[in-house]
Amino acid sequence: MIDLRSDTVTKPDERMRKAMYEAEVGDDVYGEDPTVNRLEQRAAEILGKDAALFVTSGTQGNQIAGLVHCRPGQEVLLESQAHIFLYEGAAMSALAGVQLKTIEGIQGAMDPVEVEQAIRGKDIHEPETGLICLENTHNKAGGAVLSVEHMKAIYEIAQRHQIPVHLDGARLFNAQAATGIPVAEFAKYTDTVQVCLSKGLGAPVGSIIAGSHDFIAKARKWRKRLGGGLRQVGVLAAPALIALEENPSRLVQDHDMAKELADGIQQMTAFEVLNEVETNIILVKLTNEHQMTENLLSYLKGKGILAGGFGPGIIRFVTNNGISHEHIKETLTKLKKFQ
Ligand SMILES: *Cc1c(COP(=O)(O)O)cnc(C)c1O
Repeated sequence: MIDLRSDTVTKPDERMRKAMYEAEVGDDVYGEDPTVNRLEQRAAEILGKDAALFVTSGTQGNQIAGLVHCRPGQEVLLESQAHIFLYEGAAMSALAGVQLKTIEGIQGAMDPVEVEQAIRGKDIHEPETGLICLENTHNKAGGAVLSVEHMKAIYEIAQRHQIPVHLDGARLFNAQAATGIPVAEFAKYTDTVQVCLSKGLGAPVGSIIAGSHDFIAKARKWRKRLGGGLRQVGVLAAPALIALEENPSRLVQDHDMAKELADGIQQMTAFEVLNEVETNIILVKLTNEHQMTENLLSYLKGKGILAGGFGPGIIRFVTNNGISHEHIKETLTKLKKFQ
């Protein structure tokens, strides 16, 4: 199967399996797992933050950030197509007791003026804005990169109003690969950041959240409350460490293949590529409105190619560690034959 549904489908390679087998472990709830400690220290250094915490998933990382930053009854500002808003089961409302206020962005970026206007809490009728969340790269906007300048503009507004900023950086390393700008440069303009190690970076499990010492101490407690305090979890930190240290540069290949696929698709009259392909995500629309995306997906599946539905009339291809140039060529050949 040529699996282009997501970059989460990557499987740990031999090096990672070996590292899992050989990992030095201890009880991480006691802070005694040396491999986890090494991973958290390296992650903090790479992201330019005081401290970091290994969490079970990107969702858990984002939710812990909400829980630490906010009090119940507050409001969180975020982009209208943010993963936290669309795909996390309303967890911030269910767990942190906050309501979400969305602002429609362009290529995933909210207008800083609109963000500032949306900040509230002085009037007795209003909830207080407790947090601003950004997403970089932006999944629903087709892996779009938020520029450092944009992040800085939002951060300056937030600081002026003393509101923390959290970055959902599930794919922040893709922003680094696309621009050559180090992840720490992006993370500089956010109080806390979550990065997924289990997407393009290829670890089997896990995300990192990073921030100040005080934030991480509180986050550690919330992780325990959520049942995310794991014991000899060095077996998972070991492949995560390889993902973090060795795989960021590999993402450039995913981006090259995504461009190759998008260029090929763009030349076919049956399809339209909706996004400017900056990273590893391609959003495709069928030009014939009577054609169903379900038909295309099942046709591709019959040819051994998996893609994902991504809203009405749209399908998503995501290049990843398991995809080669031959796979891209094969996918283009099969797409050409779709009627
Ligand atoms: C995948 C993803 C997450 C959540 O990660 P999980 O590990 O699947 O919980 C959060 N934000 C964005 C932008 C993502 O793409």
